[in-house]
Amino acid sequence: MQCITSIGCRTFLYEFIQATYSNISNCSSSYKELLEKEILKFSLTTSRKWSKVNRNYKKFTKTNTEWLNTKFKMPSNKKSNFSIPDRPVIPFALCSKRTQRQKIKIAISNSNMNSPEILCAAKNKMVLSGQRTAAHLFEETQASPSRAKKIKTKYNYSNYPIPYTADEALAFIIDNKLTKQQYINIRLGSKKRNCNIYPAYENIIIAKTNCYPNNMDIGESSCKIPLQDLLDHTTNRIFQVPEVCKISLNSTKLEMLYKWGCDGSSGQSQYRQNFNDDSLITDETMFMFSIVPLELRSHSEVNDVENNYEVIWTNPSPSSTKFCRPIKYIFKKETIESTKEEVKDIETQLLKLVNTDVIFNESIVHVKHTLIFSMVDGKVCNSMTITSSQTCYICGCKPKRFNDIDSVKNMPNKTENYRFGLSTLHAWISK
Ligand SMILES: [Zn+2]
Repeated sequence: MQCITSIGCRTFLYEFIQATYSNISNCSSSYKELLEKEILKFSLTTSRKWSKVNRNYKKFTKTNTEWLNTKFKMPSNKKSNFSIPDRPVIPFALCSKRTQRQKIKIAISNSNMNSPEILCAAKNKMVLSGQRTAAHLFEETQASPSRAKKIKTKYNYSNYPIPYTADEALAFIIDNKLTKQQYINIRLGSKKRNCNIYPAYENIIIAKTNCYPNNMDIGESSCKIPLQDLLDHTTNRIFQVPEVCKISLNSTKLEMLYKWGCDGSSGQSQYRQNFNDDSLITDETMFMFSIVPLELRSHSEVNDVENNYEVIWTNPSPSSTKFCRPIKYIFKKETIESTKEEVKDIETQLLKLVNTDVIFNESIVHVKHTLIFSMVDGKVCNSMTITSSQTCYICGCKPKRFNDIDSVKNMPNKTENYRFGLSTLHAWISK
């Protein structure tokens, strides 16, 4: 037993293993080297144990029964155990998940550590690498069998507060008619309760400024925006709608539909203010022009058929004043002359309109503007068509003849006035 570490003895053991496992002779030289190392390790352990029991055979067998009963472990013949000279070793963190799993499997199978020991080692490693919080949480999950599940339930991602964007917060302020101070107070209150979801008021101001088009002309008796600037801005803003951003366009030829119109309002509160512009101006009456975007369409580039289009955005509530964008408002009385004059001004601008180029998903798209003059009431219709309020602006029918259906049928129609829709006079709703 003393000579177990000698070369002769080890060669004997090697030959014995070779005789038992016939396929060893076919193995690579590196594997044989590994086997020799394993034999040396075994012989050294045996020698140490032999000296420990004072070379007493009986004592040796008695104290080392367990060890003697274990099988001699043949070294693993996996390629990963050998160092391949020319191949660089990739750091563990950079390996793929699969390789990482394989490496861990090998490391665990080669070590004699059991699960609690491995967990403890992992925790110690975390502490040593400075991840104290992670180590603490890790330890906490091990405290009891149900602890990990409890922590997971508390730590639920879907319950996280979702902060408002500046635009959302601006909509919130407008919807609820909040003042600046009310908003600031709400924001501070929620911040105190560890829920910082409202953006700072400075960001709201920026979001608000982004809502204004360029070249606004604001005077003391009127406020005007050049139509081209208003349409450019409206189009650009619609392209920022989250739903529109997600769409992938097949065409660069787009069309934006709008309705526009005007109305006057009288009987406004009068204030004792003098106007420097013109002494005749009064704040009692107001005349207003606005525009409402209706639909954004993408036209097929190949086939130029009018009806061949795809709808990209539709106004969810076309009758809502929220989508109303003012073109101008003036302190002016709504008369036939003023209506014709102001409508003519808009129509001149309409003729000069050019397409808007928008940068969308890293490409430029051209948006054509189509405006429909349909937001009109009876008074505007009559002013525009120069008819009295009692006369139909399409057929020119007068109150006396409304019930004479046969003669009304034969009356000549002014097709250019079809754009204003049917006259309500034919519906017999007056009285
Ligand atoms: Zn008619």
